[in-house]
Amino acid sequence: MPQTLARRRVLEGQRAAPGMVLGRVRLQLAQRHHVDDSPLPASETEQELARLDAALAHARGELTELRQRLHGELAHEAKPFLDTHALILDDPELRAGLIDLIRKGRYRADAALVAQRDRLIELFRRMDDPYLRAREDDLSHVIARVLDALQPVVANREERRMAARLGEILVTENPSPAELASLAERGLRGVVATAGSIYSHAAILARSLHLPMLCGVAEADGAFMDGDLLLLDGDGGAAIAHPTARDLSMLRQWQRSQAARSRRTPVPAKPARTRDGEDVFLYANAELPGEIAEARAMGALGVGLYRTELLYLRQKSLPGEDEQYAALRELMIALDGAPATLRTLDLGADKAIGTGLEMQPEANPALGVRGVRHALRYPEILRVQLRAMLRAATLGPLRILLPMVTLPEEVAAVREHAHACLQQLHAEGVAAPPELPPIGAMVEVPAAALGARALLRECDFLAIGTNDLTQYVLAADRNLGALDGLYDPRHPALLRLIAFVSNMARRSGKPLSVCGEIAGDSSALPLLLALGIRELSMLPARIPAARAVVEASDCARLHIVVPRLLRASSRAEIEALLCMLQQP
Ligand code: PEP
Ligand code: MG
Repeated sequence: MPQTLARRRVLEGQRAAPGMVLGRVRLQLAQRHHVDDSPLPASETEQELARLDAALAHARGELTELRQRLHGELAHEAKPFLDTHALILDDPELRAGLIDLIRKGRYRADAALVAQRDRLIELFRRMDDPYLRAREDDLSHVIARVLDALQPVVANREERRMAARLGEILVTENPSPAELASLAERGLRGVVATAGSIYSHAAILARSLHLPMLCGVAEADGAFMDGDLLLLDGDGGAAIAHPTARDLSMLRQWQRSQAARSRRTPVPAKPARTRDGEDVFLYANAELPGEIAEARAMGALGVGLYRTELLYLRQKSLPGEDEQYAALRELMIALDGAPATLRTLDLGADKAIGTGLEMQPEANPALGVRGVRHALRYPEILRVQLRAMLRAATLGPLRILLPMVTLPEEVAAVREHAHACLQQLHAEGVAAPPELPPIGAMVEVPAAALGARALLRECDFLAIGTNDLTQYVLAADRNLGALDGLYDPRHPALLRLIAFVSNMARRSGKPLSVCGEIAGDSSALPLLLALGIRELSMLPARIPAARAVVEASDCARLHIVVPRLLRASSRAEIEALLCMLQQP
């Protein structure tokens, strides 16, 4: 039979992380297993139970082997995730339910696994418990692993599952940040997610790891096959299966432009200046050593947002003072005198699982005990972090930033703890600065934005976190792709709040920055400049484009549209004003 060429197929998605890569598809979707639904003859029951036990034991062995093999900094991220899987596998109720289905229901082992998975997920959903909801993905992953083991024998499945990631593009539903970190280390090239949102923490991590990623590509489920050649264009928002020679020449062109970019001499760290002479200060959101180096090469003036969560997500127990100090010392040395803004821990009940943090399951974790609320409820954890930060303040200029602030009293309470820690360090003879470094608040809660005047009296600076502010102003979960039309940081309500906070900060003479994802969206930058924002913190790779926009802007001209911006009642009006502003 003549061989037919596989047909080119293009699927579009949301651009979660930029870059262009070519790789083989690695499907990790629930339906990739063949399930035999036919009733099991009674005579085969014992044999089927033995098959199931062998598959469970195999999956357990794979997890143990994998845990032993993982090493390196990023691999730590995967460990809590693997531990949870091991616990699920060992759950006696899971096995009892499967045995029941096989014995009484006459299910085959694979069909029993799928039925049990669906039953438990249904149960989790009905309980409306966020902890259990968060376990849904883990359960599906574990069942998939056992199903893998039941499928016809393939030598060393773990090898196939993980090592084969080298050069592959993962096509999956909604990856966890821990999974991404570990897979990136193993040579994964990119990610196509059928669900999720560009504002999720997984998407933010993919951008940090330079892992091109699309999300919301619902049709990928069914359109791509394991092993298909795929060109993933994170810049253009497309995944092209069976790319043509023309597609590949586009990739080569992109690679050449990247090579030319990396040959460029590092940009000196100085403010970007508008055409009418206003200085705009560009900083980087960065945590990993590679990102800090990249930030410096891109001309960042320093780190404008260092999310300390990574330190906690990497391990199952709380990091101690010395461990935190060691990480911060590395940062301050890499910054070589440039300033850093360190954010205290921002974890909610949904993300704290496996970190060793004590958190009660909550029905609405986004509205629960997270950020500074957690810090004040567990001051002993906050104080460890503050002591490490104060010690690091002897190594270079730093500021302490508090997440999820609602009231000025929260900042005042943290300041008291910081004072006490500083006195303690002095009394112990541990190197610490003579005075407290600046302490500021994230403006992520609408009440904090509307109460900016009072908040500024307690704070030395403010940073607007548009990722969360958007979700709280519009009551739209930032992780839910289905709400992407609603979740919109350029919504007029957001712009009015930013304008208000910007005004208050200017009057108080205290610094204000924007560090949500919108800060690195160069197409939205004229809006922020028009609203008086002069300090921005973004992904390092976004700095050159932001600098170019700033240098082409004229603040006086931008200022003229402010009254119209603030009167705008729709996103369409905002876009029209943006187009007007971008005309030469
Ligand atoms: C934000 O909410 O805009 C922010 C910068 O914080 P994070 O994305 O870490 O929640
Ligand atoms: Mg936030």
